[in-house]
Amino acid sequence: LVRVRFAPSPTGNLHVGGARTALFNWLYARNQGGYFIIRIEDTDQARSSRASELAVLRDLRWLGLDWDEGPAYPDEPTTEPYRGERGPYRQSERSAIYEAAAAKLIESGAVYPCFCTEEQLERKRRLAEAEHRAPQYDGTCRDADPALIRKRLQRGDPYTLRFRVPAGTRVEIRDVIRGDIAWDANATIGDFIIVRSSGLPVYNFCVAVDDALMGITTVIRAEEHLTNTLRQALILDALGYDRPQYAHVSLILGADRQKLSKRHGATSIDQYAREGFLPEAMMNYLALLGWNDGTEREIYSVEELIKAFSLDRITKSAAVFDANKLRWMNGLHLRSMPPEKLCGVLIRFWLDANVIQRPAEEIDVDVPTRAAAGVAQSASALRFWVFTSRATELLRGSIELAKDCVPLLQDILEYPLEETIESGDSDELLTPQGGFLDIATAVLERYRKGEIPFGDEIEPDPEMMVPNAPSLTSEDPFIEDWKAWVKGIGTQLGRKSKRLFHPIRLVMTGRMTGPDVGEIMRILGLAKGVVQVPYVPL
Ligand code: GLU
Repeated sequence: LVRVRFAPSPTGNLHVGGARTALFNWLYARNQGGYFIIRIEDTDQARSSRASELAVLRDLRWLGLDWDEGPAYPDEPTTEPYRGERGPYRQSERSAIYEAAAAKLIESGAVYPCFCTEEQLERKRRLAEAEHRAPQYDGTCRDADPALIRKRLQRGDPYTLRFRVPAGTRVEIRDVIRGDIAWDANATIGDFIIVRSSGLPVYNFCVAVDDALMGITTVIRAEEHLTNTLRQALILDALGYDRPQYAHVSLILGADRQKLSKRHGATSIDQYAREGFLPEAMMNYLALLGWNDGTEREIYSVEELIKAFSLDRITKSAAVFDANKLRWMNGLHLRSMPPEKLCGVLIRFWLDANVIQRPAEEIDVDVPTRAAAGVAQSASALRFWVFTSRATELLRGSIELAKDCVPLLQDILEYPLEETIESGDSDELLTPQGGFLDIATAVLERYRKGEIPFGDEIEPDPEMMVPNAPSLTSEDPFIEDWKAWVKGIGTQLGRKSKRLFHPIRLVMTGRMTGPDVGEIMRILGLAKGVVQVPYVPL
């Protein structure tokens, strides 16, 4: 059974690179019906924090990644610190486990105590450098007289534990992505420390022990960890554990082909969440950073990704992060969301920006979901629902990021029709189009008399489960009324209605493009009682 892990060091937010690594692990686990495990690598106590851990876990959850083992979910009311039974899943809580593993290695002679002090080692390193020799440990303590070692141990001299790498040791791995890799361990690293003189185990030792005890079958991680693999493989061998399969994923680069960093803009997942990117779109985009299904296909749902994912289609070359493409992809995912779900997303943004007000007490942002599910609603809740869902459908085609819905609705609700025409700005507005002023005047005249048709306020029946509002996509009789009204102006001015819609759009919205004007009027009518609309006679 496949068991994979994502092993974040909780020293900051979850970044695009880490999220991609987590996602590949998760997709592989879900594709294989295996286990996805989170292990917190917090041995660097100075740089790690619980706040960072929490932030990373929240970001993983936002992205839609669930884990079978690891710390408890941040939002889960539970007294259990962990999910799963092979914990603790924080390295800082596994000291006893590392001590036992170290004892085993001392016992077998795979490691030896090294009494060399930091100053001595530094001096040796500098000497080696001057003589153009490899900087590896020179073996002083490995070759020391056993009687002397015993004496120093008895005396309580501080020591590190060093891993013995015998001459001629070769390590070979078959990386799923990078193919066969071989190291001459002696020339590459020499004898290395696994436990510091303070008793703290070093990072690579912890990882090897944890991967073994947590039963990890495949390690999918960033390419930059490749040099750690050599040490980890040696430790696993010495402990008598099977090595996992390895898959080292290539770097993510910015548009300038330099390693992706803050210079390139937003790189942390929570920034994207705050900007209104959809987790589904983010996941889709991240999956394509270094993976494809062998076709040109780019748009996937979560289920489709799980089904299509395979390790052998992860690319060896670096992936380039393209923020515009992510935006575009987000637009596609947004536009294909079910109406009530998209509406729920947009409502949050409208409320936060005060474009609409949270109306009656019992109304919350889940109204669309509840209304769609046929849950009875109050009259004001239904009005709120009808307005917001209609507005959602009106803007659906124009938004790439959820937050785009804020200025778009604001423009519709706040365009100062009367002021624009009266202040004379209309001349400026209309001149380039030539001859629109008569239309503007006719519109204003009707406006003053209260003769502009706005969609009627919805009068929902409180007994109803779902409002008798015009369905979101179906023909709305109001639109016909609107067309007739436009025609009436045409008759008055002696113009064909075909040549009226453009000028009327300009007069009513101040823009040459945008959603259908009739639809806008409809929205303005529905807005009565839901939002304060400056130019709708309330
Ligand atoms: N803790 C490491 C990191 O944050 C991951 C190491 C690994 O996956 O083996 O980069």
